[in-house]
Amino acid sequence: MNATGIEQLRPFRVPMRRRFRGVTERTGVLLQGPAGWGEFSPFPEYGPVYASRWLAAALDAAGRDFPAALRDRVPVNTTVPAVDAATAHRLVAASGCTTAKVKVAEPGQELAADVDRVAAVRDALGPDGAVRVDANGAWDVATAVLAIARLDRAAGGLEYVEQPCRTLEELRDLRRRVEVALAADESVRTAEDPLRIAGLDAADVIVVKVQPLGGVARALEVVATAGLPAVVSSALETSVGLAAGVALAAALPELPYACGLGTATLLTSDVTDRPLQPVDGHLEVRRVAPEAALMDQHTPEPDAAGELLERLSLAWGHLSRAAPGGVADDRA
Ligand SMILES: [Mg+2]
Repeated sequence: MNATGIEQLRPFRVPMRRRFRGVTERTGVLLQGPAGWGEFSPFPEYGPVYASRWLAAALDAAGRDFPAALRDRVPVNTTVPAVDAATAHRLVAASGCTTAKVKVAEPGQELAADVDRVAAVRDALGPDGAVRVDANGAWDVATAVLAIARLDRAAGGLEYVEQPCRTLEELRDLRRRVEVALAADESVRTAEDPLRIAGLDAADVIVVKVQPLGGVARALEVVATAGLPAVVSSALETSVGLAAGVALAAALPELPYACGLGTATLLTSDVTDRPLQPVDGHLEVRRVAPEAALMDQHTPEPDAAGELLERLSLAWGHLSRAAPGGVADDRA
């Protein structure tokens, strides 16, 4: 790793408050370089080829300054899991955010529960707040048309619907049948995806994440080329990784929507005692360096630490061989 100027590699493990996206902890490696710290934290099921993009993002963050910030704080949404209406109301009221993203179409739940949850969230936000829903690709087109109509009514107007269907072709077809704006999230995982989305007219908004796109500078280029408004979201990073997402959001020429970067609160603790957590619905734009005592506290057992370093090393092997942007996709 010497060629990249990396001075320190620190494996970490941080438990989550509740199971989210199928994981109960976040693990990875923090890298220190000449510009500061970067985070490499691909989800456990990813192979070394796909993970190499995540490593490119970490090396970029550690190796060079982030692009110039155009704002000094970034608005973020609060995320409401598929909980009952009363809990949803309480979570939103306590969040301090004026935008809420509500999970809907959870397996095993009825649309009526989604409608009640969305109505409760609108009530908690008041008329000036923004309500968006995220179906994580669960609906087919016909189901989405009906569900969106009911949820839009319950919300008194939805800001947008995130990933209502799984495929780009479905998103394109749905977009012709509903008035509500559509955002693509799971459909944006490689640098080429936003261009396909724009070409197909499949979404009004793209959700972008720094690690899968290979770094802040690269993500900025991707958004510019796609020509669509972007919402920057996290990959449930520690505050070191979130700082890169905030840097991207701060550098975007237009930032019409609140970002999905307020996720540090999902972790039981962090690698800094000044975590990037929302204050009045915003995150500060700043770099984050881990603190030694907290790093020590979050160092995994030797075997697990060794595995994380081995993952990084395999990803590095692919990155150093791959042509820029030429890596394939081996997500499980
Ligand atoms: Mg989403």
